[in-house]
Amino acid sequence: MKFIYKYDKLIIISLTVTLGLLLSMTNVLNQLLPEPTIGYQFKVDGEVWFVLESKDEIHRMLQVYKNKYMKNIDENAQVRSIQFEQDIEINEIEVKDEVFVSVKEAEAMINENEDEAVYHTVVPGDSFWMIAKESEVPLAKLIEYNPDMNPERIWPGNKIMFKPADPKLDIIVQFQNTMIEPVEFLTEYIQDNSLYASQRVTTKNGVEGEKRVTYDITMKNGYPTAIEVLNEEVLVEPVTRVVRVGTKRTLTRTSTTNFGVVSGRFTSPFGYRKDPISGLRKFHDGIDIAAPRGTPVYAYTNGKVVTAGWGNMTGNYVVIDHGGGLRSKYYHLSSISVKVGQIVKVGEKIGGVGTTGYSTGNHLHFTITKNGVAVNPLLYL
Ligand SMILES: [Zn+2]
Repeated sequence: MKFIYKYDKLIIISLTVTLGLLLSMTNVLNQLLPEPTIGYQFKVDGEVWFVLESKDEIHRMLQVYKNKYMKNIDENAQVRSIQFEQDIEINEIEVKDEVFVSVKEAEAMINENEDEAVYHTVVPGDSFWMIAKESEVPLAKLIEYNPDMNPERIWPGNKIMFKPADPKLDIIVQFQNTMIEPVEFLTEYIQDNSLYASQRVTTKNGVEGEKRVTYDITMKNGYPTAIEVLNEEVLVEPVTRVVRVGTKRTLTRTSTTNFGVVSGRFTSPFGYRKDPISGLRKFHDGIDIAAPRGTPVYAYTNGKVVTAGWGNMTGNYVVIDHGGGLRSKYYHLSSISVKVGQIVKVGEKIGGVGTTGYSTGNHLHFTITKNGVAVNPLLYL
C-alpha cells in the first residue's frame, strides 16, 4: 500500500513538470508568431460586402448614408426609427491585411444602387402631364419626385425624374409630426320667405376652429409609403355660420354634404396648411370636395363661362365670371358640359367630378376669387 502511494505521488510530480514545460513552450511560440490582425466584416443579409480595419469608420459611413434620407423631413418631427430594410451585421474577425478594402471602396459599396434613377429630358411641347402619362407615373408622384421643379414652368433640356434610384441598402424612416390645422366651419341655411329667391343674408359669421393632428409617417428611401393620422384633437370648436335664404331657390344648400356646387364629402379646407412631411407651409386656394366620378357639378350662381379647357395642374376646368369681380373655378373635372361665352344660371350643370390634372382621387376643387384674389369659398356657399 505504501509503495503504491509513493508511485502515485511520483506521477503527479512528473505531470506537473510536463505541464509547466508545455505552457512555457507555448508562450515562447506565441511571441515568435505575428499577432493576429482584427478587422470588421460588414454583412448584408448574411452576405459579406467588405472588411474594414475600423469599426468606427463603418458606423460613420452608415450614419452619413442614413442622413441622406433625412434631408426633406421637418426638423420638428419626432423621429421614431431609422432602419435598414436589410439585415446589417458588423462582426469582429481575425484577418490577414490583404482582405481589407479602402474607406472609399467601402463607401462606394454602401452607396451603390440596384437600379439607377431614370430621367426624361424635356423637349419643346412637353408638359408634366404628358410625361406622367407616357411614363405611367401618377402626376402627384412625378411632382413628389421633382420637388425643385415648378410643373408649370419646364424648359427643353430640363431633366425630370420619373423613377427614383433603387439603392441596395434601403432606409426606412418612421416619424411622427404634430400640426395645428384649421377645422372648417359649417353653414346652416334657414329658409326665409321674406327674402327674394336669389337673396342670401348672413346672420352669423362662421369662424374656423383649430385642431391638433398627429401624423405617423413612414418613408422609404426618402419617399412616403404611408401617412396615417394617429391622433386628432379639436382645440377650438368652429362657429357655425347662419345664412338666411329666399324660399324660391331651386337649389338646396344644407349641412356639409351639399355644397350647392356639388354633393360630396369635404376633404380639404381653404388657406395655409403645413405639410406634415416637410413642415413647409402650402397655400390651398380653394376647398376640396370628394365625390364619385361623374357626380354633377353646378354653377355657383348666375354668370358667364370665361374658361372651359385644360390645365396641367387643374385638369379639365371651368371658370365662371359672376360680375362684380367675383369668379368661381371648378378643377379636375371628368367632363365639361359648357362652352366659353355661355351664360349659365345658378344650379345649371357645368360638368362632372373627376381626377384630371394634379389630383390623387375624384374630387372637385372649388375656388372663389374676388377681384383676382382667392377667398374662402365657404363664405360664399
Ligand atoms: Zn384643392
